[in-house]
Amino acid sequence: MDAFMAEQGPTTDKPDMLHGHCLCEAVSVRFTPPGKHIDACHCSMCRKWAGGPHMGLPMVTEAHFTGETNIERFASSDFAERGFCKTCGTHIFYYFKPQKAYSFPAGLFDGLEGFTMTEEIFIDAKPDYYDFGGERERLTEAQVMVKFAASIEGIAQEDGQ
Ligand SMILES: [Zn+2]
Ligand SMILES: [Zn+2]
Repeated sequence: MDAFMAEQGPTTDKPDMLHGHCLCEAVSVRFTPPGKHIDACHCSMCRKWAGGPHMGLPMVTEAHFTGETNIERFASSDFAERGFCKTCGTHIFYYFKPQKAYSFPAGLFDGLEGFTMTEEIFIDAKPDYYDFGGERERLTEAQVMVKFAASIEGIAQEDGQ
């Protein structure tokens, strides 16, 4: 009864390559996300940067840029850089240096059909004036730090449990 799904055809598991560009189109990006999910970060730096939470696509280490000389990189911490278009200011990426990985804002890309928000981080830094509905994993700053400690310190952590 699942014969149709077994046919060779467009696979629904693996997302297609995404193409996005900034407002002025000086910078464009293409990459293939590993999954169809979006994470939201409520930390004060993301909200300062974006004017609201950062809605990021899954982190990737491979991405192709056109007009890369138009990207300005701001070192927002010892372990991260934030890239934006020099001309129009559109946010292009959050770059996590320990993993050499990019988190691209979902808003850069059109469509994203079938994508869902699966995680919110720095939930304890979220102001009271907004909330995202629905159920998903919500991590506090402390929980996020535990999750990424190994990458940031460059050491493997023993599981304490
Ligand atoms: Zn631009
Ligand atoms: Zn953040």
